[in-house]
Amino acid sequence: MERHYTLYRIFKRLLLWVLPFAFVGWITGHFWLSISLSLACALLWNYLFLHRLNMWLWQSRTMLPPHAPGMWSDIYDGIYRTLRRAQIKRRQLAVLLQRFRQAAEAMPDASMVLQRNGNIEWTNKLAQIYFGLRWPADKGIQVTNLIRDPRFKKYFEKGEFDEPFTLNSPQGDDRELELRVMTYSEDELLLIARDVTQLRKLERMRKDFVANVSHELKTPLTVMNGYLEMMDSPTKLPPEMLDKAVHDMSLQTQRMQKMVNQLLLLSRMESQMQDNFTKRVEVGAVLRQILNEMRPLFTDKDIYLDAHIDENLHVWGNEEKLHAACSNLLTNAIKYTPPNGQITLRWHKVGPFAEFSVADTGNGIAHEHIPRLTERFYRVDKDRNSATGGTGLGLSIVKHALEHHRTYLQVESRIGQGSRFWFRLAPELLSQPD
Ligand code: ADP
Repeated sequence: MERHYTLYRIFKRLLLWVLPFAFVGWITGHFWLSISLSLACALLWNYLFLHRLNMWLWQSRTMLPPHAPGMWSDIYDGIYRTLRRAQIKRRQLAVLLQRFRQAAEAMPDASMVLQRNGNIEWTNKLAQIYFGLRWPADKGIQVTNLIRDPRFKKYFEKGEFDEPFTLNSPQGDDRELELRVMTYSEDELLLIARDVTQLRKLERMRKDFVANVSHELKTPLTVMNGYLEMMDSPTKLPPEMLDKAVHDMSLQTQRMQKMVNQLLLLSRMESQMQDNFTKRVEVGAVLRQILNEMRPLFTDKDIYLDAHIDENLHVWGNEEKLHAACSNLLTNAIKYTPPNGQITLRWHKVGPFAEFSVADTGNGIAHEHIPRLTERFYRVDKDRNSATGGTGLGLSIVKHALEHHRTYLQVESRIGQGSRFWFRLAPELLSQPD
């Protein structure tokens, strides 16, 4: 309820107060004395409530106004209501600020509120971790003192923040950070830092992959193109060379076909959802099938096979992937073992684990190559057109297939003596035969 105290109303009240005194004064013959007395009382009365108002506003701890009659009660009420409204507004603002801070903490990015001159006003936890801030001790320091890269100083001082700024983590770890600065309020800026290490790594991998595939395809295509040009005119390709041309071209076509098939398999494996291991794989039967398919390769090179397969050792998993892992390891063993060598294959229990291992008497692999063997297109023998005709994709397929079964490939090798590749499946994946 609003109360309007017009000058007229105030004057009317004063008149109503003075009139009785004037009347008594007129009767008693002390007219002016009586009027003065009434005005002095009115003044005192108002000073008393002015004093109370002052005490309430500056000394009292309570928000409730003191009791007052008449006009002063309305004034106290008016002030009280204004104070309450301000208090409610302040609370709402505090809640809003709290929510903003909670949201900023929950963000996966580091954020900082800066003054226009670069002084840090506020940061979330992640920013303190990324930039090694001690909070609140570092409050107010210059952002360019924190991020000491001269390029960032230039970028910040220029004040054009349309493009993001990328820098290596000032903490000295391998993280790559992408910074974005935007206007937050009239004299404040918001700095957001995002960890883009993984993104950049993926970008590099994609570029490397495209470069590698193009490089791999270049050799066979050049060979085939050369022969096709020669076939154009019979003078350039004598009939006795035709057999060799057809043989070479078919070899290169097979290599390309193999590579495309392996790439397709890899991409299929990557896109497959994680299995929940509800399918039982009879690994013994899978291995027998692989060995049957590879029998001609063994006989061609006169390689002796020593196979120890536990036919009752079944596991929960993905048959296609286990097949791919075992057959690639066995193919490599045959490929890299000279004629008359020996390959020992084992599928058996080792403690609570199921272990698959292939050992050969090949040339072995130098120590420094071993950690990189499962990288795509990585080959110890750099000659892409080597006699083995390898693509460098076999072991990355193995790695993928094993990651799916929550395990990894292990290798031990000695130059001139041979290599052993093996992996172990966890006891939870073992299944008892019916
Ligand atoms: P590739 O198609 O070239 O065989 P892989 O990914 O299967 O590709 O193998 C990567 C490299 O690891 C091969 O180029 C080869 O140099 C080496 N390698 C793999 N298995 C063996 C092995 N049993 N003995 C010796 N070297 C091996």
